[in-house]
Amino acid sequence: MNKLRIPLSALAGREGFSFEERVPEDDLRPKGSPRSSLNEVVVSGTISPMSSKYLFRGTLSGLFERPCDRCLEPAQKTVEFEVTWLFESGVENQSIEGVVEYTEEDALEEDVEGNRVRFFEGSDLDLAPHVWEEMVLADPSKFYCSEDCKGLCPNCGMNLNLGACSCASGQETSESGLAALKEMFPDLRSESLEE
Ligand SMILES: [Zn+2]
Ligand SMILES: [Zn+2]
Repeated sequence: MNKLRIPLSALAGREGFSFEERVPEDDLRPKGSPRSSLNEVVVSGTISPMSSKYLFRGTLSGLFERPCDRCLEPAQKTVEFEVTWLFESGVENQSIEGVVEYTEEDALEEDVEGNRVRFFEGSDLDLAPHVWEEMVLADPSKFYCSEDCKGLCPNCGMNLNLGACSCASGQETSESGLAALKEMFPDLRSESLEE
């Protein structure tokens, strides 16, 4: 079930229709698209009739989940941002793409200026493809379990967030080995002083 398909009848006689829906990636991903690192998205906002168009203003909050780039442990990241979408019933005409005429609600002009008009057909306003498009773009390119993730040891592959590996103690050994060598010289030095 697509919870982001809003029947226009819900807007009848109202100034706006407000909702908040939590949608799993499975319900959002178009058929045939590979699974993304999106876990779910919370869509909240208001759809308002605007002359012959519909304005959606809301917030998308996407929860992404995939292995940390550094330590490979499962990690999560939430990306949240606001969107303003203008919808019009009909089929997109390339020649008028991007041209928006404002007949009312001048205060909104600044927000939606430059936004392309999104077209829809039928008696439902389906936000799902638009939410999906935004989430694909919002997918974080860098993904860390935490900003100070120590990652894996390049030598032994141990997760350094869990503690130091034996490669690190190996360095200590060579340092103490050097110290041990130095300890061999005081004897020689003291002998030369005695002479
Ligand atoms: Zn990590
Ligand atoms: Zn190591």
